[in-house]
Amino acid sequence: MFSGTLKSLKGVGDKTYEKINKLGLFTIQDCIYNYPRTYVDRSVVKPLSEFMDGEFGTVHGIVQSFNLAGRYGGQKGLFKVQIVDSSMKAEVVFFNARYLSDQFSVGQELYLYGQVKASGSKRAMFHPEFIDFHHKDRDLFLGIKPIYALTSGVSLNELIKIQRKALSFVTPEIPETLPSELLMKHQLISIDMALKNIHFPEDEAGLRLAQRRLAYEELFKLQLALFALKRKVGDVSGTAIEPMPVEDLLKALPFKLTESQTQVIEEVKKDLGATKSMNRLIQGDVGSGKTVVALVAMVMAAKQGYQSVLMAPTEILAEQHFKFVEQYASDYGVALLTGSTKDKEGIYVKIASGDVKLVIGTHALIQDKVVYDRLGLVVTDEQHRFGVRQRNALVQKGEMANVLIMSATPIPRTLSLILYGDVDISIIKERPKGRKTIMTHYIKPQKRGDMYGFIGKAVDEGQQAYFVCPLVEESETLNLNSVEQFYETVKKRYPRYEVGFLHGKMKAKDKEAVMRRFAKNEIQILVATTVIEVGIDVPNATMMVISDADRFGLAQLHQLRGRVGRGETQSYCFLLSDNLGKVAVERIQTMCQSDDGFEIADKDLALRGPGEILGIRQHGVPELKVANLSKNQDLLQLAQIDAKEIFNGYDEEALKAFLNRYIGEVLRGLTL
Ligand code: ADP
Ligand code: MG
Repeated sequence: MFSGTLKSLKGVGDKTYEKINKLGLFTIQDCIYNYPRTYVDRSVVKPLSEFMDGEFGTVHGIVQSFNLAGRYGGQKGLFKVQIVDSSMKAEVVFFNARYLSDQFSVGQELYLYGQVKASGSKRAMFHPEFIDFHHKDRDLFLGIKPIYALTSGVSLNELIKIQRKALSFVTPEIPETLPSELLMKHQLISIDMALKNIHFPEDEAGLRLAQRRLAYEELFKLQLALFALKRKVGDVSGTAIEPMPVEDLLKALPFKLTESQTQVIEEVKKDLGATKSMNRLIQGDVGSGKTVVALVAMVMAAKQGYQSVLMAPTEILAEQHFKFVEQYASDYGVALLTGSTKDKEGIYVKIASGDVKLVIGTHALIQDKVVYDRLGLVVTDEQHRFGVRQRNALVQKGEMANVLIMSATPIPRTLSLILYGDVDISIIKERPKGRKTIMTHYIKPQKRGDMYGFIGKAVDEGQQAYFVCPLVEESETLNLNSVEQFYETVKKRYPRYEVGFLHGKMKAKDKEAVMRRFAKNEIQILVATTVIEVGIDVPNATMMVISDADRFGLAQLHQLRGRVGRGETQSYCFLLSDNLGKVAVERIQTMCQSDDGFEIADKDLALRGPGEILGIRQHGVPELKVANLSKNQDLLQLAQIDAKEIFNGYDEEALKAFLNRYIGEVLRGLTL
């Protein structure tokens, strides 16, 4: 719409253009949507006597005298100006500022903005910004100044000028981007006003109104986009699967279900029995025992002759689920289908014929070749690893689209509202009895020797340990050297034990061999990349070391840690890091203080922002620039109600037109 290049603005030459390109600014539109990071409010002018020490503000003063002075004389260009306002005197100091000496005159009236140092009856300002009382830009100076993100080579004032030009180029004619009914309903200001005020607020109130309007718009459009993404999953009516009793299965299990598990199973049972198809998310912290709930649901379906699938994000996890499920449901036929399954054709036949009722696997389950027979239930494990698209692909292979989503990434309530707007949520609150809190510690580099010793002792006593280091993605081609080095280091430390090595580049068969040996305690110490992040269950493993902990996100650290603490012995998690930035320190502190997934998720949201957590960026959903999910919960709720009304109230044609008009650009970018 305003796709004109910034070069068409007066005063933006090739050089400047190239520099601001680094900020992602190419067109006028880019500038318009390049909101300030923050603002400096210079509109409050106060007498010097009212400033507290260190306070920022604007002073209105008169120059009494000025001189180049100080210990270094004129050499360093220490420039001092004595001013006085209605209340008292102050000294204004500039370093390296010989050039200023001809900018002041005695008796001159000034506005100065900056930090005021106050001590007793003395006031001082260092390097304030200032403007002459009679300067034509005085009112601008005294307004709210936008602070934009900068790159080297472009000064803030330069960029402000460009932003101002870009904005004035279009503001009389920015067409409204929200339906007028919604503007009226929520008393939102027009897009034109909002954009003007988000960049150059007239006053505090103007800024607030602009932020509210733009935040609402972002949330509303995000909701529309997510509803559009989800559309194929929800609202499908299906045939009820009248669930059969599963007492026989429960009796066969080696443990008694927790109350939480029983309750969630009841909820699932109700859903299955209803004619509206199930769309339920089970949230439960790592180790809370979600798999058995899936097993029960799958057996319920099988007893009625329906097939069900369980999709896991990794082969190892799929294999583990398969083994677990096979133990208790072999009567109904259980099959495993992953990328490395040998006789795929044979499995396809068994699935298509309905010989197997429970199918477990990875993405391989989605492939066109796989044809299901009366597929009645789709379970996805570790949901955060899948896109909505993959889940949909699976659901569409079924007849009734009953969906059970299992996630160990507890999502703050606000986020689950967004991501799973119309999904029912069950929460497994308690963990199986007897589990102890995992003791988590940050280990300083000089204390690592002690840690190795401590772990050695535990292994002497028959326990097992994980050493995890970041090769962040299984697919990451980053050289394996550092991981291998780490493996060598650990191996040297523990010459008496069998030390295994597991990483994503290994063949599935080899991975499995290593895992099996670890599970049987033939390997005592396992050095691994994050392939062990999800699912793996070895209760005898009680020690976890996470190397380079700064390279993992909070949710991931919590997931990794969940590999221990699965038995009744006290478990430990040790975090190592050589590179402690601010965020890393916060993450590590959070991990040491909490093992509550929900608390950690909240912290994660604060540290990383919602886009990454939701995994929605990969779908092309635009990020939130103004809206803040914890601060704007009220707006979020309004936006959600509005979006829902539109999706429910419009017929197909009208909805299409509406979406095209208001989020057309987003929709075209979405990977549906
Ligand atoms: P997650 O929720 O992380 O997927 P799992 O389903 O893998 O957890 O369960 C973790 C471990 O706890 C498994 O060994 C499982 O067999 C065991 N478990 C599950 N439910 C119970 C229970 N009610 N009592 C004791 N152990 C349980
Ligand atoms: Mg699990």
